[in-house]
Amino acid sequence: MHQVTLIPGDGIGPEVIEAAKNVIEAAGVQIDWDIVNAGADVYENEGVLIPERVFESIEKNKIALKGPITTPIGCGFQSINVLLRKKYDLFSNVRPVKTIPGINVPFQHVDLVIFRENTEDLYMGLEKKISEDAAEAVKRITKKGSTRIIRAAFDYADKNNKTKVAVVHKANIMKLTDGLFLQCAREIAEEYPHIHLQEVIIDNMCMQLVMHPSQFEVIVTTNLYGDILSDLCAGLVGGLGVVPGANIGENMAVFEAVHGSAPVIAGKNMANPTAVILSGAMMLDYLGEREKSQVISQAVTETIRQGKYLTKDLGGSASTTDMTKAIIENM
Ligand code: NAD
Repeated sequence: MHQVTLIPGDGIGPEVIEAAKNVIEAAGVQIDWDIVNAGADVYENEGVLIPERVFESIEKNKIALKGPITTPIGCGFQSINVLLRKKYDLFSNVRPVKTIPGINVPFQHVDLVIFRENTEDLYMGLEKKISEDAAEAVKRITKKGSTRIIRAAFDYADKNNKTKVAVVHKANIMKLTDGLFLQCAREIAEEYPHIHLQEVIIDNMCMQLVMHPSQFEVIVTTNLYGDILSDLCAGLVGGLGVVPGANIGENMAVFEAVHGSAPVIAGKNMANPTAVILSGAMMLDYLGEREKSQVISQAVTETIRQGKYLTKDLGGSASTTDMTKAIIENM
């Protein structure tokens, strides 16, 4: 029996997390869910966005499946997602992006994984106002931070028979920060002589991805570029509703979709559950439940291929619960 922290989140979070929980249980995996919540709903009742019991549960179980949480805009609110990644040093943000046959997209052979550094860069929260009319933010890149994410990308490539890793940077302009990241990539690439290192400047990467995305297998990059590229890549395969993700540290992992709380469609039973269900499948893989993970991924693929129960974002008219039911029936 696995012990897993389940955080429904807010917006569409509770709907898609319920879908993922049902699918995982239908696959026959024994999980003792510790359900704790954070986000807007908790704030309304308790005056805190993330109560202590959430931290305690994650620290105890060391693994969580999490729904999206709205970040209130304005001073004084730190993103809960950024906070969790920082607090538990979940340095590796892994986002597999793969074409699922049946989704109407321009490219049929996209199959890549983005490794986004999750703790440094412009997302460290080191911003300050320097005058009435100006503000600045610190972009910090370290050798330790760069090395561990780049190594994670190469290890993944090695274990999954990938032939190349693309490092994405802007070292031609940011010579010290991105220059250091690129240098680390070159050093680590030497340890993996059978894997080709592609060096791609971020602006060129955007063009390459929208013109020839299938040339990439593994992408490793800094925090901000990784954040932007993963939404771009989500667009290549059908949108945010279908891209899963994981935040992985040394001995702790939080699995969550790339998408946010999508407030416009929240509470309407119309969110696409695919991304969170596939995040759940990634979690099962991490827990050593490889076979069940594959059963779930295949059921998602089959449901989309059949095209009968698709949510609105995929061109259908099925509800979240209808699509989830179809996925369970296809297992
Ligand atoms: P979003 O991902 O919530 O939504 C962007 C667009 O994608 C919207 O049009 C939405 O309807 C659509 N979409 C997203 N997920 C979908 C799904 N499962 N099914 C169908 N359509 C889907 O991005 P946003 O609107 O920029 O952010 C909303 C809030 O979520 C913000 O407060 C943001 O900070 C937060 N956010 C949280 C996380 C997280 O918790 N990990 C991640 C990203 C954004």
